[in-house]
Amino acid sequence: MCESSIYSICPRCSYFSTADTDLYCPTCGVTLTSTCLRCGGPIRDPYALFCRACGTLQRPPGPSAATKEPAARKRDRARP
Ligand SMILES: [Zn+2]
Ligand SMILES: [Zn+2]
Repeated sequence: MCESSIYSICPRCSYFSTADTDLYCPTCGVTLTSTCLRCGGPIRDPYALFCRACGTLQRPPGPSAATKEPAARKRDRARP
């Protein structure tokens, strides 16, 4: 019946919606995505973590995976 529904999922949390008018996640405020990040295929399974067509991960595994600090911040030798 509704097998052709395309879901819009939040890449940050597990929110998903089938409404075309939902563009942003109400929880995170990030843009919802309804297509694969890699191949652009439609997301037809809101619970799928990987794209069916290309196997690309649609969501990060954890919400606390953002580290703003650079890996190696070398001190620049400004003093002579
Ligand atoms: Zn979200
Ligand atoms: Zn894909």
